Amino acid sequence: MRGVIMHAPGDVRVEDRDDPTILEPTDAIVRLTASCICGSDLWPYRGAEPVDHAPMGHEYVGVVTEIGADVKNVKVGDFVVGSFWSSDNTCEICQAGYQSYCVHRTLMGTLGTQAEFARIPLADGTLVATPGQPDAELIPSLLAASDVLGTGWFAAVAAEAGPGKTVAVVGDGAVGLLGILAARELGAERIIAMSRHADRQALAREFGATDIVEERGEEGVARIKELTGGLGAHSVIEAVGTQEAMHQAIRATRAGGHVGFVGVSHDVSLDGLELFGAGIHLHGGAAPVRQYLPQLIQLIWDRRIDPGKVFDLTLPLEDAAEGYKAMDARRATKVLLTV
Ligand SMILES: [Zn+2]
Repeated sequence: MRGVIMHAPGDVRVEDRDDPTILEPTDAIVRLTASCICGSDLWPYRGAEPVDHAPMGHEYVGVVTEIGADVKNVKVGDFVVGSFWSSDNTCEICQAGYQSYCVHRTLMGTLGTQAEFARIPLADGTLVATPGQPDAELIPSLLAASDVLGTGWFAAVAAEAGPGKTVAVVGDGAVGLLGILAARELGAERIIAMSRHADRQALAREFGATDIVEERGEEGVARIKELTGGLGAHSVIEAVGTQEAMHQAIRATRAGGHVGFVGVSHDVSLDGLELFGAGIHLHGGAAPVRQYLPQLIQLIWDRRIDPGKVFDLTLPLEDAAEGYKAMDARRATKVLLTV
């Protein structure tokens, strides 16, 4: 099969890879319909994380072509969506709703779903079949559910977005934008998008943002305070992962409020005394996307939400290197790869 290999930072190639095979009786093989490039794939691409001939990709939708002897919940021919962590969905951690911390988890990025086929470990717990074969127009939104929508959703839940709440969103990448959509679906009263890019501001408004703040850092915090009677937002979503973004999120949250942080943390350190003084809730980490998949798939199937709008560039898998370039240069928010 063909698949993406990142040889080194900045060096992405599409190459022949071995076809995946069933290794465990709980595995399934999926012929991928589409995959995509994640903001987190840019960390190794930019040399901020080590990388050496790594298969890439952890977001995926497709059709089951083979199942192991113990797989019961999906069958050959099913169209499926899965999370970027495989999970058994039965251990105590999964049952508590934290499938991304399953005691048997595997990070799908280590298997690489920017490819024609993928082996999905723990298929029964990881995959969710759609109600039928989806129309082509639903594919981008179903693919978004695999990570960016599920992650934005978790961020909004972790930030306790809901009726009567003012939600501020730090980060206008795909996850931040879909955090806005999630906050709207959860009933938030006011949603403040922090963004200085006109095209992303427009999509933020389409997804439910009521206010836009262009300032960053301390100025951004001051603007949020101004918009909230000096108190700060009830709920803040942090979808970047840098020191500046985390400070911005914590300082823009009112006492008693909640920060939902989902940006993969890079060199963030927090001062204990500042946290003590803030009196806020911090909740985040790797999103348990699997928890939300049935609900999100139904919302997409019923055409109530259209998260696939975050994809602003579609390329064939063979042109993946161009997709990485476009996202690195911020010429694209999120790139869909057709297989
Ligand atoms: Zn588990």
